[in-house]
Amino acid sequence: MTASEPSVPIDLPSYPAKNSQFLSQNPHLTSGFDGKNPPPPELINTCVHCGFCLATCPSYRILGQEMDSPRGRIYSMDAIHKGEASLANSAQHFDSCLGCLACTTTCPSGVRYDTLIAATRHQVERNINRSISDRAIRALLFNLFPYPNRLRPLLYPLYLYQKSGLQTLVRRLEFLPKLFPRLLAMESILPKISLPALHHSFADIIPARGTQRYRVGMILGCVQRLFFHPVNAATVRVLTGNGCEVVIPKNQSCCGALPEHQGQTQQAQDLARQIVDAFAETEVDYIIINAAGCGHTLKEYDRILADDPDYCDRAKQFASKVKDIQEFLAEIGLTAPLSPLSPEKLNIVYQDACHLLHGQKISVQPRQLLKQIPGVQLAEPIDAALCCGSAGVYNMLQPDVAEELGRQKVNNLLQTGANLIASPNPGCSLQISKHLKHQEKTVPVFHPMELLDYSMRGETIS
Ligand code: SF4
Ligand code: SF4
Repeated sequence: MTASEPSVPIDLPSYPAKNSQFLSQNPHLTSGFDGKNPPPPELINTCVHCGFCLATCPSYRILGQEMDSPRGRIYSMDAIHKGEASLANSAQHFDSCLGCLACTTTCPSGVRYDTLIAATRHQVERNINRSISDRAIRALLFNLFPYPNRLRPLLYPLYLYQKSGLQTLVRRLEFLPKLFPRLLAMESILPKISLPALHHSFADIIPARGTQRYRVGMILGCVQRLFFHPVNAATVRVLTGNGCEVVIPKNQSCCGALPEHQGQTQQAQDLARQIVDAFAETEVDYIIINAAGCGHTLKEYDRILADDPDYCDRAKQFASKVKDIQEFLAEIGLTAPLSPLSPEKLNIVYQDACHLLHGQKISVQPRQLLKQIPGVQLAEPIDAALCCGSAGVYNMLQPDVAEELGRQKVNNLLQTGANLIASPNPGCSLQISKHLKHQEKTVPVFHPMELLDYSMRGETIS
């Protein structure tokens, strides 16, 4: 067998030898992709079709089709390039990819599936006519979520919806999910809204406590600042308590992770430029982010703005300063004293967020930090590297696959017998909380920064 032969049987749909009809109907295309940054053939060709990635691919596990696996999608990209398959017929299989990047961790050949799928998603968004309902839900997501000032006014009626008991009623009406699956998927992860948190703003510069070691910028996130204000507040206290002056520019936008992960080129680039501008004059040593998905995108600004002559160098410099909060703290070392979070031993299970584990290769640092809290024992779940199904807005766009992954993830976390779940990403926290509620479990979910903050302040978790 040669290196390029598949080692396991594959089941691919047969494509016409050359889809000349498709290409003739799309004269602007030289292949099934347009000419703007298609997935590079030289990267596609690094896949030797061994199939090692299949077992770790969540969409393949749930859907069971080769075309919904990394290898199948790479085959599709190749076939589209050669005009042997149409982008339109393959789009649903690219959409079913969670973008969790588990395949990049597993692949022994180092295939850059992350680069391939990122390029393909932008091609899909530019060239595929989606259904009306698909366009409507995407328009809603892309026009609301990345803009806290647009989302904030909508949270007041949603606050009343929660307070009035209407939410409980809606959740009891079991026929509704069948009628409006995506809207209900969105509703089902809505966290409890806190009115004071909606209007909290941080000072522009927050001094270090004790001797200053670093001056760092902090990204607030879009969803994080509205729904997870306590996580941002805890992050500021942990940073200042460990000798960092924290700079928080007021004019910072969303980082663009959501549109970038869904192939919205223009919107992702616009938001990236705004963030680069917001931090331009801050003279910080590092730029800190406490959400896994955002951190991965912020570190890719050099790629996202590579074609912009005015921003490419600044984006590169910006990206080189970005650090996940846990990566940063593990590097500089904690100097603030820590107290136990509970009089008894506290059994915590850490939930790996895909964009930290696979996207940024950060798994040891969060565990190292949590283990420094006196009395903490860390449990490891099975399938720790498998996505929880949140994946940005995937759980709203592909609710069926996300539902099954969320159920499996929560089962695995609960099986450890842990008293508490530590989750470093807002999307994962919402997904896990939802499925804990479905199973009528009351295990609390905290961001690791909240736990460090409690520990530094000598507070216990009841
Ligand atoms: S992506 Fe990597 S692991 Fe998957 S089939 Fe290709 S070479 Fe093998
Ligand atoms: S990114 Fe995740 S869902 Fe997509 S192909 Fe890779 S392992 Fe599968």
